[in-house]
Amino acid sequence: MTSKKAYAIVDTAPAEPLSFDADLCIGCNACVDVCQVDIMIPNPKVGLPPIVLYPGECWYDGSCVDACPEPGAISLNSQAKDRVLFKRKHTGEDFYT
Ligand code: SF4
Repeated sequence: MTSKKAYAIVDTAPAEPLSFDADLCIGCNACVDVCQVDIMIPNPKVGLPPIVLYPGECWYDGSCVDACPEPGAISLNSQAKDRVLFKRKHTGEDFYT
């Protein structure tokens, strides 16, 4: 019997579209299944967050966050060009939405 192995090479794009909280993630891979552009693969270690293989291909549509059953387990990091820096009128404090 021949064993089958799959090899994956991570895209080294500087983008980091997703963050995972390993304490909240249950490794269900709902986010992997729903991703429109297949940027993730399931973690070979059951119960851990998926591996983002192609961060530079992310469409930032948020479908992974919507599909996640564990609030806070996955976060979408908007692209820097889409982040708007606001300033509070009363305090002068800068903040992102
Ligand atoms: S959908 Fe949420 S809980 Fe499931 S693997 Fe993705 S981040 Fe983890």
